[in-house]
Amino acid sequence: MKVLVLNAGSSSLKYQLLDLATGAVLIRGLCENIGMHDSAHRFDRGFGELKRSEIMNDHHDALQIVINTLLEPDRGPIKSLDEIDAVGHRVVSGGEYFTESTLIDDDVLEKIGICSELAPLHNPPALAAMHACLEMMPGKPEVAVFDTAFFQTLPPRAYVYPLPYEYYTDYKIRKYGAHGTSHRFIARHAAKMLGADVRDLRLITCHLGNGASIAAVDHGVAIDTTMGLTPLDGLMMGTRCGTIDPAVVTRIQTLLGYTPDQMNEIMNKKSGLLGVSGISSDLRTVEEAALAGNERAVLALELYAYFIKRYIGQYFAVMGGADAIVFTAGVGENSEYMRAQCLAGLEPMGIVLDARKNRIRSGERIISEDRSRVKIMVIPTNEELMIARDVEKIMDEVHQAEVTAEMVEETLV
Ligand code: AMP
Repeated sequence: MKVLVLNAGSSSLKYQLLDLATGAVLIRGLCENIGMHDSAHRFDRGFGELKRSEIMNDHHDALQIVINTLLEPDRGPIKSLDEIDAVGHRVVSGGEYFTESTLIDDDVLEKIGICSELAPLHNPPALAAMHACLEMMPGKPEVAVFDTAFFQTLPPRAYVYPLPYEYYTDYKIRKYGAHGTSHRFIARHAAKMLGADVRDLRLITCHLGNGASIAAVDHGVAIDTTMGLTPLDGLMMGTRCGTIDPAVVTRIQTLLGYTPDQMNEIMNKKSGLLGVSGISSDLRTVEEAALAGNERAVLALELYAYFIKRYIGQYFAVMGGADAIVFTAGVGENSEYMRAQCLAGLEPMGIVLDARKNRIRSGERIISEDRSRVKIMVIPTNEELMIARDVEKIMDEVHQAEVTAEMVEETLV
């Protein structure tokens, strides 16, 4: 089965065409700066990255360029769009409507539109990509895979904010979480690596990239996560502040006369590693500055690790222990320094990092000492594969339902 996976951002369209029969990625690419003067298309058919400047006014134009590239005579991975069995869309917010991935129809499109309020930068471009697919590939099954769906299992004690309850009932203000597809992928993969059923494990999954979040996955079910109503909550990130005293917000607004939009911009774009170090949102750059003796860079790294350690402790307590801690994404997969910092001193909890294994650079791996009660793992995330697998599962169900309906009809005849 060939699945086209689309991930639409506010000015970007990322894609992969996967062949699930072989597990091969036939092409991956990114349309960037959509709607800007320097829009471009980067793609890789397995022979290195190519970049072409392209005029893309909107996501419709971007999808047309993706399709043209897929069908390029001699060089494209497919000869006809008929070779694509279905399309999977990453959708940031499904609110409380969606607890799992779902086949797209008019009702689903409408609900994704309503959830734009919760993800104003991401749901509208995803909707634009869905409509463009409907137009350019009419009749092709499309599936929506939601970042929030994995966290719809959170119990009310984890998702209700201790504010007047009407804000939840009237305005749906609650914790939704994000990065769910990544947490789901690494939780399942960790279980596979450990030769166990995910339903028998307590996992703390750490997605540490530019955006960062941690989840408590208790016997296969997410019971808490660090991101909240929006991705601003929880860990300190590249440019986001994460959890702070809410009164800090109103205090700064009063002191400096900032509007809510300005305050949002500061907390989302000017805080985190960038805000504290004053140097960069990129962990590598901050690590280099810290090594060169920059004190604010050192403090930024300390804070970053401290936030992670605190949440690991919280989720350890919430689940009454853990069988494994799993790291993924840019920082989680690559920074041996950050993994060592956030796990330092946790030996009494049965969490013992193996310094030598922690230096291993690539691939999925277990980096705890053999005596460590809690396994420490690194698993490269693969959200596209998870999305494609969801599409495959849904297509199988659709096929099964059709076969059953035919059988019933034949019986009645
Ligand atoms: P992501 O959003 O998953 O692409 O992750 C981006 C973050 O990963 C950035 O802060 C990068 O600095 C960080 N990162 C990527 N490679 C490394 C590395 N080798 N060492 C430390 N941080 C890294």
